[in-house]
Amino acid sequence: MLMSEIAEYLERIENTRSKLEMTDILSELFKKCKSNEIAKLVYILQGRIKPPFTGIYLGIGEKYIIDAIALASGYPKKQVGQYYKKSGDIGKTAEHFIASKKQSSLSYEKLSLIHAHESLLKITEISGAGSQKIKIKKLAELFMKTSPLGARYLARFANGKLRLGVGDPTILDALSVYLAGSKSKRKSIERAYNLCSDLGYVAELVVKDPSKIDKFKLRIFSPIRPALAERLPNANAIFAKLGPCYVDSKYDGMRMMIHRKGDRVEIYSRRLDRITDMFPDVVRNALKLKAKEFIIDGEALAYNEKEHRYFSFQETMQRKRKYGIKEEAEKLPLNVFAFDLLYKNGRDYIDKPFRVRRKELERLIDKNNEGIKISAITFANSAKEIQDYFDECISQHLEGIIAKDPNAPYVTGARKFSWIKLKKSYAGEMQDTFDVAILGYYRGKGSRARFDFGGVLCGVYNPKRDMFETITKVGSGFTEEQMREFSKMLSKIRVKEKPNNVDSNMTPDYWVEPKYVITVAADNITLSPNHTCGIKENKQGKGYALRFPRMIMLRPLKDKDAYDSTTTKEIVEMYNLSRSQAKDIKSK
Ligand code: ATP
Repeated sequence: MLMSEIAEYLERIENTRSKLEMTDILSELFKKCKSNEIAKLVYILQGRIKPPFTGIYLGIGEKYIIDAIALASGYPKKQVGQYYKKSGDIGKTAEHFIASKKQSSLSYEKLSLIHAHESLLKITEISGAGSQKIKIKKLAELFMKTSPLGARYLARFANGKLRLGVGDPTILDALSVYLAGSKSKRKSIERAYNLCSDLGYVAELVVKDPSKIDKFKLRIFSPIRPALAERLPNANAIFAKLGPCYVDSKYDGMRMMIHRKGDRVEIYSRRLDRITDMFPDVVRNALKLKAKEFIIDGEALAYNEKEHRYFSFQETMQRKRKYGIKEEAEKLPLNVFAFDLLYKNGRDYIDKPFRVRRKELERLIDKNNEGIKISAITFANSAKEIQDYFDECISQHLEGIIAKDPNAPYVTGARKFSWIKLKKSYAGEMQDTFDVAILGYYRGKGSRARFDFGGVLCGVYNPKRDMFETITKVGSGFTEEQMREFSKMLSKIRVKEKPNNVDSNMTPDYWVEPKYVITVAADNITLSPNHTCGIKENKQGKGYALRFPRMIMLRPLKDKDAYDSTTTKEIVEMYNLSRSQAKDIKSK
């Protein structure tokens, strides 16, 4: 398929705000694709060149793209740069100049999807002296071969974002519509995706061999989308939900899935990045374990020998850097606390109940193990026993507990009540934290004017709608340094209009591409006519909002991006829970 043809579909998607229509257009586009094209198309729709665990990213900086547009169109760089500054859209800039380019080209509109993908992949491999010039030239060649509309999406893609407002849920729906004419296949396609984290590969199977989708099995060295925990406010609520259950210690570190087969070990982050090279000490320890093949899930954190305490999440995250890896590994050795086992020596445990997985994990890792340890766990037969273990964990400076349903399978990529978290901060009842996506920001007034930053408009993600819905404006909790940093960081992802995947009744001074996540604390959740979080589902037609929000920290992108923010469903559940608690207190 030609990029110019694909671009026409993408434009139709860009011009609609209806997810149903987007799904239909996408499935129509999938039908036009050949089986060797679909994976590449899906990666492009995800704004990637390859799945995240390959570590191959495109993201060519705007400056290079401007140079390439200038080279392809024959206009001076300065003019292209000025147009970009005014339009704020690298895609529209490419489209404008390619449409009026000075040299005509015979191969106009002949750029195929396969060729574009291959060339962009090659661009990611170019390095060394003079590489910038070669990259610009290669990109310019692609611009010259496609239509102005093709150039729009090529430029945006090269920059790492298509701006269509299409997230994974919409792609999954479209694949189901492609396969079955309805969303009936969505669950099994999503299951396959959760097991391998490669939506391009899954799409290819849908087209080539759909019978394999239902029988899809996990594969070693294909990262599995990690199970997530629901939350409840106290031990009583947890016991009422689960009955007798395991209570695991909650370590505040960095999530890691470790895969091993023979002498090869790979480590994947919560966001499915391959992070093996950053943790040579973890690799060494994984090779010491008795089984030759396994996949384990755990949390890694550094231990401070002097102070006899574990380092916090932020401190541990500093280990995730590119340089000084060896020195850091010696200075801050990581302990991995394994808490689940998904695969061992040819046996798939993913659908086995937790009690079976835990036994196998105990067989793999004994208590005295160094480096890779097993999480400290207990079995609770009452709410009091849950509470007692929670108190014990807190007294050991742990973050809290995760209660686990003994009979539940490992639920990939989803937040289900098979795991329920109870954290220290919840104990105070009035305070909870939320991970919200930044959707826009405000100019600073008064003393903040010099930072051009006065706070952020934030939202949560609603996967059902594949939309971000606003929940709060956050203005407090920022240090001067953070204001400076935020203003700089956000000005780079500013967009002229409200993004397609944002539902908002408010208009900030600047809209941004949903990308960054901040953790905020708030006193409680209230109903508000101003915010759109959950408004579609709320009987009173009101949205949910956070009251008295304060910024706690910016989540590193490697750890969470906008799509990993708190979901609308979680907010609604938390709101309902706090209401029922309030009623309980009143009736006592
Ligand atoms: P989430 O991962 O739920 O989106 P988050 O990253 O903010 O949220 P928390 O809400 O603090 O993290 O809790 C869930 C996380 O706790 C898990 O993703 C995992 O990284 C970590 N964790 C620590 N100990 C355990 C354990 N014993 N079992 C499961 N998860 C654990």
